[in-house]
Amino acid sequence: MTKKIDFSNINYYEQQPEDNTFSDIVIDITHRCNMECKNCYIPNRTFPDMNFEKFNSWLSRLSGKCMIRLVGAEPTLHPEIDKFINATTEHGHMNVLCTNGLRLSSTSFAQRLKETTLRGVYISLNGVDNDDWYEEIDELRCAKKKLQAVQNIKDFGFSIDTGTIIVKGINEEAPSRLLHLMDTKDIQTVTMRIKNVGQLGRYQKQEDENIKLAGLVKLCADQFQLSEDYIWSHYGKVHRYGGRVEPGTIEFPMDEDNTDRYNKRWIKITDWDTDNHVGIPDPGSKRRGRLTENWTIAPMYEHIKMNEGNY
Ligand code: SF4
Repeated sequence: MTKKIDFSNINYYEQQPEDNTFSDIVIDITHRCNMECKNCYIPNRTFPDMNFEKFNSWLSRLSGKCMIRLVGAEPTLHPEIDKFINATTEHGHMNVLCTNGLRLSSTSFAQRLKETTLRGVYISLNGVDNDDWYEEIDELRCAKKKLQAVQNIKDFGFSIDTGTIIVKGINEEAPSRLLHLMDTKDIQTVTMRIKNVGQLGRYQKQEDENIKLAGLVKLCADQFQLSEDYIWSHYGKVHRYGGRVEPGTIEFPMDEDNTDRYNKRWIKITDWDTDNHVGIPDPGSKRRGRLTENWTIAPMYEHIKMNEGNY
């Protein structure tokens, strides 16, 4: 059952690119995907691929130095992915590719990306190395491809962020498997992002069946061999993002003495549960924007919610 949202609680607005105030902007360059995950906030596949010339022209109008997050559905399916990546840096911005990693399991595709200005890859690893978990969460036994993609990301010298949704009763041991994976692949610098199910788009757990923030902290403490107190001590601390504390986000180094956010292993726990007065994760975020169908920029979660089932 879809939760009823009181849209009057949502502070929705749009900005022209010249007036942009967001530091991170999500760009859905395609709505096509080669997976059918059970938790997907953009499940609509009917929109055409983004036009590169229009994107490039929009970038030339964009104010500020931004982190451009190339996402989708699955951005590697866009035939002009290279152009999109290069254009972001040509216009003075930073970029990251947010992908399910299936295409990156191909060495030739990884090589193709290496020839662009891409530096960072965020790969979703909901099942980590376990095909049963992938099947139950992402409807595809794809562990082999995911692990090859992780290897290619490392071998081709991209920085790596991983994203894992913890689904109660399925992959609650994912943090320890992630740690094992990083050890096996000898990946010493990584951000491992752990979150719960977000009730946006298509999802497999309602709020009352979802693991909550405290549950995520406990799992991480137990499996990363840290204390819960240590993790909670980082709640409300800001390591990035222009000084704004993000409610529901806890970011901390695995090595307690490490203060360099871009070095060694970090964990980022994010509460995607929508159990709040607005019904979206992190309402009111001024950091994350999303490029709309009309080439304006809107607050990301608010835009996704307002357009649920559409763009
Ligand atoms: S979550 Fe990502 S990989 Fe999965 S179906 Fe949605 S867009 Fe595709």
